[in-house]
Amino acid sequence: METLLNTALIESTAEKIDALALAAAAAAETWANCPRTTRARLLDGLAAAIEAERETLVAIADTETHLGTARLNGELDRTAFQLRMFATLLKEGRPFRALDEPAVPGAPPAGHPHMTLVRVPIGPVAMFAASNFPFAFSVLGGDTASALAAGCPVIVKAHPGHPQLSQRIFELACSVIAAQQLPAGVLGMVQGASVDVGVSLVTHPAICAVAFTGSFKGGTALQAHAQARPRPIPFYGELGSVNPIVVLPAALDSQAEALAQTLAGSIALGCGQFCTSPGIVILPDHKMGAAFIAQLGAALSQADLHDMLTPGIRRLYDAGVERLNKLEQVHPLVGPARVADGGPPTAYLGVVDGQTFLRSPALHEEVFGPACLVVKVSSMEETIQILQAIGGSLTATIWGAGDSTPDNVRLVNAAMGIAGRVLFAGVPTGVAVTAAQQHGGPWPASTQPFTTSVGHAALDRFLRPVALQDAPAWLAASAAGTENHQD
Ligand code: NAP
Repeated sequence: METLLNTALIESTAEKIDALALAAAAAAETWANCPRTTRARLLDGLAAAIEAERETLVAIADTETHLGTARLNGELDRTAFQLRMFATLLKEGRPFRALDEPAVPGAPPAGHPHMTLVRVPIGPVAMFAASNFPFAFSVLGGDTASALAAGCPVIVKAHPGHPQLSQRIFELACSVIAAQQLPAGVLGMVQGASVDVGVSLVTHPAICAVAFTGSFKGGTALQAHAQARPRPIPFYGELGSVNPIVVLPAALDSQAEALAQTLAGSIALGCGQFCTSPGIVILPDHKMGAAFIAQLGAALSQADLHDMLTPGIRRLYDAGVERLNKLEQVHPLVGPARVADGGPPTAYLGVVDGQTFLRSPALHEEVFGPACLVVKVSSMEETIQILQAIGGSLTATIWGAGDSTPDNVRLVNAAMGIAGRVLFAGVPTGVAVTAAQQHGGPWPASTQPFTTSVGHAALDRFLRPVALQDAPAWLAASAAGTENHQD
């Protein structure tokens, strides 16, 4: 029997997970081979359904997450945009276009048979919803939209931080699926506050891939389960990031005050609960740098913060700030946070010198929340060493690299060496949903640095290449001509 945890969060039983996975497997062939327009119609229908319920959904989300109605309305818009974006890609057919190479007579390697490269849906996907994006990385978020677009059924593991919202959105999705007379197994959802639910899903033989956004600890545990299966499966995990910002002297010449305000806003945005929140600022150790730090501290101490997503996330934030602040060489300029639970946290800004930072691995880890560490550096060499010590990150930002100098070239190369996205203006919070987006990066930003979870290419994670060699005419023609032989 299922255990009722509250009005919305029902701990899914092993039997229920098994039944959902089998339903997804049963729906997989139909969904993979249906016309692309059928899949596009579902995505468009899901976008319209959440928009039609906007007021109710945003109200539930605000109660459960404290993120505020302005942010949540914007996030709902983004979620509908993502669903429609993948619908458009389906209608255009580009991701499914086959690569056709006619046979070339003669001996290999120049001569070769007729080759047609196609991409096929990987099969049912388990999707772990994120706590910090209750719409855009949750039940009908980017992972679900891209997997459905690719032709894969999805089973969502709802996040226990917003159970009622997840349940309501899932019910809306089910009614759209039923109205369009599609198999119910196209979308399933499990809930639970114990790790058993997620583990059962990842280890179920019918699941063919996993998409995850969350903690390093949870992600690495689930990835190990995905790898330990008799048949290991791809695990697309986004695990966390410190998103360094390098402020070069040129950036401080004319706009220091404005940059400090913008940076403080980015650190505090959503109470710092963004995977792209700036956690480390690398700054020259000179007079202008000192003035900038003071301006940043003043702006951050004025930041308007709200309650964090869950009590667990709040506890981790307090512990993380304590870890940063423990070293006596770290000078707190704002904070440290109150340790007491309840109410919004306090922002934290610490200042440390480059050599101490390099010697202290505890300072290199993400603190999820409105915390940031300023690292004062004495040379470009030290700046690059610090970026390399930080390692994999979703983003790296460089302000003031407008001129093509040898130092700037080295710095940009170092930033590209550690990050999936390198910015030269603005702040890393806010991820454009576009064709050229890359939201991923070397470990631990992502478990699969060649992939992105935002943008058009998110769909590629769920399509597996197959080369058809000397395919019969009917198959080669349909693959090369229509990219979907039932269209
Ligand atoms: P989380 O603890 O990683 O949980 C995410 C999902 O994974 C939940 O559904 C959770 O289910 C499941 N899970 C976690 N550990 C598991 C395990 N060992 N086995 C099976 N399932 C597991 O993330 P969170 O609750 O959202 O936040 C905690 C911390 O994660 C934050 O403080 C922050 O450091 C990080 N975080 C990072 C990002 C990012 O963008 N990379 C986003 C949000 C949070 P149950 O809760 O039911 O166990």
